Amino acid sequence: MNSNRHSAFVAHTPEFWELFPQDAVPTLLADGFTWTEGPTYQPSRGAVIFSDVRQNKTWCWQDHGGLKVELSPSHHQNGHCLDLQGRLIACSHGQRALLRQETDGSWTTLADSFEGKKLNSPNDVALHPDGSLWFSDPTYGIDKPEEGYGGSKEQDGNYVFRLDVDGTLIAPIRDRYKPNGLVFASAERLLLADTGDAATYVYNVQGQQASYNCQLFTVPVGKTDGLRVDAEGRIWSSAGDGVHVLTANGESLGHISFPQTVSNLCFGGADGRTLFVTATSGFWQLPTLCRGLSFA
Ligand code: MG
Repeated sequence: MNSNRHSAFVAHTPEFWELFPQDAVPTLLADGFTWTEGPTYQPSRGAVIFSDVRQNKTWCWQDHGGLKVELSPSHHQNGHCLDLQGRLIACSHGQRALLRQETDGSWTTLADSFEGKKLNSPNDVALHPDGSLWFSDPTYGIDKPEEGYGGSKEQDGNYVFRLDVDGTLIAPIRDRYKPNGLVFASAERLLLADTGDAATYVYNVQGQQASYNCQLFTVPVGKTDGLRVDAEGRIWSSAGDGVHVLTANGESLGHISFPQTVSNLCFGGADGRTLFVTATSGFWQLPTLCRGLSFA
């Protein structure tokens, strides 16, 4: 049964093969980027928006019609998600802010300071079912000249913030080194990757607060940057050697090898079951039989 499988697939359990069509192959859609990141599928546009953080652009890959520049300059946008209304939310290294794109295309700053001090450089963002937006704020966008406009750190730490629908900004998570990719597995369970110590953690979420639960997993090569959860609760993690698929409890189901470091991924496409993968200079797709978990 598995003999026709593309050599990129490495199963650690039989269940892994049930996640993909028999003829699934990772396909390079576009290349020539520098550091691709932050893919998010926007059904209202039938397109994936993704960032090239270091070329200071965002790109749009349409279900029909291929690739076009979305923003240039993008002010070094990084991670994206959709809010409850389906609007695009962006982390901006350059503007050191969390932004929302309105239906007319204009941008609204949702948060750019906390306790009177500038944010570091928002990296990635996730929607909670209650409509709040949780985003990580490490310093890559001010430390790395190629990923932002520089500046000094004003925050006392590298926090994960929660932006309420009423605009209230709090910092429920303050105990991480470099919080990065994050995703809600449920209203009570946040998965958070820390690229400072190369592991992914579980936080219990109760109301507006979050408390440390446990370390959930590490990847064998490189580290988890962005990650997603599918509708059955499986975890799809980026890594230095490709994409790893894990159970909700963090046990490996299998691995899809990519030739370059994978930063992030998302489900989308017309059928909702295409995995889009940002991998350094490349932007890829992979057909699956899974859909992303969505609260939007
Ligand atoms: Mg990231």
